[in-house]
Amino acid sequence: MSKDLKYIEFPAGTNKIYLDDVCYELDRETDTLTICSEGNFNNFLKKRTFNLINRFGLRTINILKISAISLSILLFLLLFFKIFLKGADSLLSLILISASLISFIVASHLYEIVNYCNIFRCKKCGQDFAYEEMKKPLIKMVSTYNKYEKTITSYMKCKYCNNENVKVEIAHRNSKSNPKNIYKNRKTCKGCGNKFSLIEYRYPDAHLEYYNRFRTIRHYKCTDCGYMEISIKDDYVDVNRM
Ligand SMILES: [Zn+2]
Ligand SMILES: [Zn+2]
Repeated sequence: MSKDLKYIEFPAGTNKIYLDDVCYELDRETDTLTICSEGNFNNFLKKRTFNLINRFGLRTINILKISAISLSILLFLLLFFKIFLKGADSLLSLILISASLISFIVASHLYEIVNYCNIFRCKKCGQDFAYEEMKKPLIKMVSTYNKYEKTITSYMKCKYCNNENVKVEIAHRNSKSNPKNIYKNRKTCKGCGNKFSLIEYRYPDAHLEYYNRFRTIRHYKCTDCGYMEISIKDDYVDVNRM
């Protein structure tokens, strides 16, 4: 596992920092942290969805999706009853687990295709694959004392009737079960230089950012001056070595 650690510093009076095409903003009244960046165009997904829907039709894809999820649940139940009634038989259990998992992966892939088909259908004229993206999507992450939320906003326009559509999708949402303050870690403040003045003042945001990347964001503020800081640590799981 490799890791990557960086610090974003907010000296007294500074609330906004741009670093590597990412904007970090702190609201000092509420301690809300907002991180904004540009995402990638959805074009390749649109093309893939377009090809599949053209080939099989939306109705067939929908039927396949429901069949795959039902099969996955059925196989999982069979596995459960088999273990419950007869104890684990390694080979058959392995076959059932694998088949259930494969059906689940196929179902989620088909679900994504149907979802993208709906995204690109014009809300006004109803044409399929009508929306084109006007600019790159905005990826926004908001962290407060009691929640962490990541949203993706896409800006689209219909190529037939020029209808504009802004779509906000919640990619990730966490409620923090323990929103209380913590004063665990104390460090020397980089603003005023006082020892043990920089405190970690609330619970970190920890979440799976990508399938192989686990991100932890810690929040610090100085008790003596207006200096604030966040640390962002990414732990990478090397999937090739597993
Ligand atoms: Zn339209
Ligand atoms: Zn300080």
